[in-house]
Amino acid sequence: MTARNNPDPAGWRLVIHGGAGIIERSRVTAAQEAAIRAALHRALDAGSAVLADGGAALDAVEAAVRVLEDDPHFNAGHGAVLTYEGAHELDAAIMDGRTRAAGAVAGVSATRNPVALARAVMEESPHVFLAGEGADIFSREQGLEQVGQDWFGTPERRRQLDELKANQSSWFDVDMKYGTVGAVALDGAGHVAAATSTGGVTGKRWGRVGDSPVIGAGTYADDRACAVSATGSGETFIRVAVGHEIGARMRLGGEAAQAAADAVMAEVRALGGTGGVIVVSPKGEALWSFTTPGMYRGQASATTRTVAIFGDEG
Ligand code: ASP
Repeated sequence: MTARNNPDPAGWRLVIHGGAGIIERSRVTAAQEAAIRAALHRALDAGSAVLADGGAALDAVEAAVRVLEDDPHFNAGHGAVLTYEGAHELDAAIMDGRTRAAGAVAGVSATRNPVALARAVMEESPHVFLAGEGADIFSREQGLEQVGQDWFGTPERRRQLDELKANQSSWFDVDMKYGTVGAVALDGAGHVAAATSTGGVTGKRWGRVGDSPVIGAGTYADDRACAVSATGSGETFIRVAVGHEIGARMRLGGEAAQAAADAVMAEVRALGGTGGVIVVSPKGEALWSFTTPGMYRGQASATTRTVAIFGDEG
């Protein structure tokens, strides 16, 4: 089957997310809301600049995700959640729909922008998925920017871990807000790409890895169908193979992207999971679907731009 590329320099699309969860007006201060909206706009600015300039979807998703990794309001890079032991273990993935080339890392501890490390795995190694210490070594060998663990931490993440321990609650984020970040893009040449980056879930143990870096689960891109980035209860998203499943419904079942995304999120819900996805397709479909009260999200094209947080917006 050949790719359904539809070159259209002005037909680019970009969709981003900064996590889904119990995100309601009563739980977000005006200052937090303003800062989060501003960060989402900056991420859209970064990705849109690449696409409007005729750049590749792959470069756009990396650019957008890097902005969100550097922003402390999201659970990725600076602002990543803490493990049970009080460390930061970061997961990220990137995938190019042109060739289905992919790169992913899990449990890395010192790379400022894990999405850049995922891209290096894709482009500079013969592998797709590197984990832990080996991935950290590869990062240094690649000359990527290294930071101490302090760079990732924020007082709010420490408070969340302390609360989780005080409540002896499960591994889930205490206030059920996932802050993983992701981007999907369609470029003017008709190619799609996806990237996702996360600190995982607060209080995670035993080298736990969620869906974000798992190709076909939290991240997937295939020019024959769509690009997907997910956020939510990672264990369920892995079991449903969310990214691949949305693509398969479109490619093999002929479903529209929104119908496929909604159906797969219904499967996640049926298994007890929560969260959301963003999707773009080579046809120009660009959308989100989520089961939670809110999702930090935004979309841009040559003529449109939306940033939203709560479920009842845009
Ligand atoms: N899906 C991520 C994970 O399970 C969490 C998130 O979306 O924030 O690691």
